Amino acid sequence: MMHFGRYLVVAGFMVRGIEALTLRSADGRPVDGEIPPWQADDGSTLPGSYEPNDAFAKRQLELTVSAPAGAELRESAVPYPITVTLQNNGEQKVSISKRGSPFEPELRADIFWTDPPTSSYLGRSVNHGHAMHQELLDLNPGESLSATIDLQKYLAFHEPVNYKVSIKYNLQLYNSASFKKVSLTPENAIQHVIEATAIQVPVRGVRSEEDVDQLFKVRRKGQATREWNGWQNVGCSDDEMEVIQDAAAIASQMAHSAYDTFVKEKATELYTRWFGWDAARDSKSWDPKVKTIYENISTQIFPEDKHNFVPDCSTCKSDPDYSYTYAYVYSSDKQKVMYYCAGFWQATPKRDRDSKPGTMIHEASHYSDIGKTQDLAYGTSELIEIAEEEPETARQNADSIEAFAECNPSCP
Ligand SMILES: [Zn+2]
Repeated sequence: MMHFGRYLVVAGFMVRGIEALTLRSADGRPVDGEIPPWQADDGSTLPGSYEPNDAFAKRQLELTVSAPAGAELRESAVPYPITVTLQNNGEQKVSISKRGSPFEPELRADIFWTDPPTSSYLGRSVNHGHAMHQELLDLNPGESLSATIDLQKYLAFHEPVNYKVSIKYNLQLYNSASFKKVSLTPENAIQHVIEATAIQVPVRGVRSEEDVDQLFKVRRKGQATREWNGWQNVGCSDDEMEVIQDAAAIASQMAHSAYDTFVKEKATELYTRWFGWDAARDSKSWDPKVKTIYENISTQIFPEDKHNFVPDCSTCKSDPDYSYTYAYVYSSDKQKVMYYCAGFWQATPKRDRDSKPGTMIHEASHYSDIGKTQDLAYGTSELIEIAEEEPETARQNADSIEAFAECNPSCP
């Protein structure tokens, strides 16, 4: 068994590999996807592993989170602010992207981990376009960056117990001169996902489902749904609904055929490209978790030419911060509203990478009763990289779910 430290954390476990010494090529680099031993300053090694969290934090970037002293989480109207800090302990300036990080004014991704896992993420899962220069932040050696996040806005806890809460997210480091993403590989002991030590949150008040429904209504600015050919939508014109209907018909075919490919297990190369190889599995036992996601999208979102989601064409349009964004959803939203932004309307209507139908599959996979996927990596090259190095991460990543469906049987 290979251990990829971070993805085991993502999956809710905390196991680190002390086995399988790595083969190295003549120049000392790890061979094909093997994880090199991590080496401490005193020469001791931890084979088959990323650098441990605490060592990484001391040497590079440290993420910490703190709760208000003595506070209990009660009524939803009372804020519960936590503070998240990223500190550069290294000797070099780093450029980080704010995207999907805790340092955006409005969170765009589920960055929370709770124990017990009985909580719902109430924030947006945003499918954005390519990164922008202006979203990068420089952190000089010794500098830190802090943000305050109101947990009440982003999490609904289902039990009145003491929770452990942590923040983890996709760490996107850039070279500030070249504006190129720094490759995050075990070779340089930089992880894809950075995580803070958990804090204790004593939860004493539990929110009802009606409360949560009400919250999503308020966020839609109270706009009512209307009907177009029997299809509920929010603020879509007839022309827009026609575009959406055409894309949904293709998305439906794509979802059904992706599921079919899984049932028949007939495109191994394609599977491996987007979801990685697993020494413990062979081609006859593809990961059933991914199969279930395509099954749920086919049978629940696109059952027999129907569409069980509510397009919203107006809410995102008026938001200038989202002009390069494709779409977003609230994964806990029972009504399954799908918010389309400017990027969606510019995307190709056909089956292709970053297409309208693919965006629908991506968004559908986020819903908590469909796939509960996250946004941990974006874009073809990064998706291929995580499939190789962290297959478990790829299998719960929305863009990987989208890419497989867009490229089945092959990319157009
Ligand atoms: Zn997404």
